Amino acid sequence: MAQLSDDCFAFGGPMMSVDEAVGLITTRVNAIADLETVALVDADGRVLARDIAAPLPLPPFTNSAVDGYAVRNADLPQAEERAFPLDGRIQAGGLAQTAIKPGHTARIFTGAPMPPGAETVFMQEDVRIDDGGKIVLPSGLKPGANVRPAGEDISEGHIALRAGQRLRPQHVALAAAFGLTQLDMIRRIRVAVFSTGDELASPGEPRAPSQLFDSNRFMLMAMLRRLGCEVSDLGILRDERTSLANGLKQVAGGHDLILTTGGVSTGEEDHVKAAVESIGSLVLWRMAIKPGRPVAMGIIEGTPLIGLPGNPVASFVTFVHVVRPTVLALAGSLPEPLLPIPVRAAFTYKKKISRREYVRASLRRGEDGTLEVIKFPREGAGLLSSLVETDGLVELGEDITRVEPGSSVGFLSYADLV
Ligand code: AMP
Ligand code: MG
Repeated sequence: MAQLSDDCFAFGGPMMSVDEAVGLITTRVNAIADLETVALVDADGRVLARDIAAPLPLPPFTNSAVDGYAVRNADLPQAEERAFPLDGRIQAGGLAQTAIKPGHTARIFTGAPMPPGAETVFMQEDVRIDDGGKIVLPSGLKPGANVRPAGEDISEGHIALRAGQRLRPQHVALAAAFGLTQLDMIRRIRVAVFSTGDELASPGEPRAPSQLFDSNRFMLMAMLRRLGCEVSDLGILRDERTSLANGLKQVAGGHDLILTTGGVSTGEEDHVKAAVESIGSLVLWRMAIKPGRPVAMGIIEGTPLIGLPGNPVASFVTFVHVVRPTVLALAGSLPEPLLPIPVRAAFTYKKKISRREYVRASLRRGEDGTLEVIKFPREGAGLLSSLVETDGLVELGEDITRVEPGSSVGFLSYADLV
């Protein structure tokens, strides 16, 4: 597949840091090239295919920022207040037909275009009306106050939205402010998702006493959808090499990425590795990350495959660090690096040097009102409750060996991960 440099998934070194892994992915996975036109109402979360230059300035015309009274700068009261006769009234959506007369003021409302000649607006709260019905304006207002000049937000021709931007509601708002009704987007990437394991039953199917319901597949599909992917749910593959190989081979052509969970450790019942090797190529990425385990990276008939570990928390964390950047790169999105926010730790923790750890944790207000983060009391990589009952992950870098209450740690909210 043209989306991959030859060596992208071939790194088989001893131990890879998270940054090396993300670097490999973001520099060597290329975006799919297929574009489609998308209606503005459906554009949220999609990746923009081309830069958009502002077709008009924003705001498009100079207008009042407040409800009040407009005057010419030459008429601004200098040393003391001054009474002005009223000349005209301009509402939002209206247009003054004539220039404001020297020595006069015009009633104006928020968003209304400035009458020709008027350059400054007095807020109505700062103004009084005298017995003769004249408008008394105070001295001391700066020329140009309370006016929004045309183009002060964005000038015409400015590249306001960049190719590769994954649109959020505010980007959709900007496209709408330009009057656009449809946008050229990169098509959604198609991802096939499998679980593997004889111990798994699909929700809705009978569960044997030695089985558990498959939860990872639903978690991964939900995360992929949040990243804008089109997802094919391919169910559970049994722990058997030939059926695994057949299942994987069938979907290779029609998808941009295959994602599996389970069966990639190095035990003799981990059959994904052997299955992929029989129909394509596979390497295990040993990342210095906890929770993590090896992540399998493969290629089957040109389609990349990522095999995540089966333990739900390991699956979640490796998704964030391997699948997320791969999906963003394939989808043509600019990289969206995860930037942990420094928060005060309210826990003690010891860790090994030279590997990165992600600790499930919750935010709370400390006694002094400062935000602090508390670690989930248990650590097992199989505990779904640890993901459900926390707010995010504390990132402990390779160099850190212990955390004490009061130290500053980096916190990633679940909301920022997908
Ligand atoms: P594995 O990576 O296949 O060795 O699985 C590691 C652990 O994760 C085992 O306890 C599995 O039962 C569990 N596991 C594997 N796949 C899933 C899944 N799809 N949903 C929930 N748990 C799983
Ligand atoms: Mg298994």
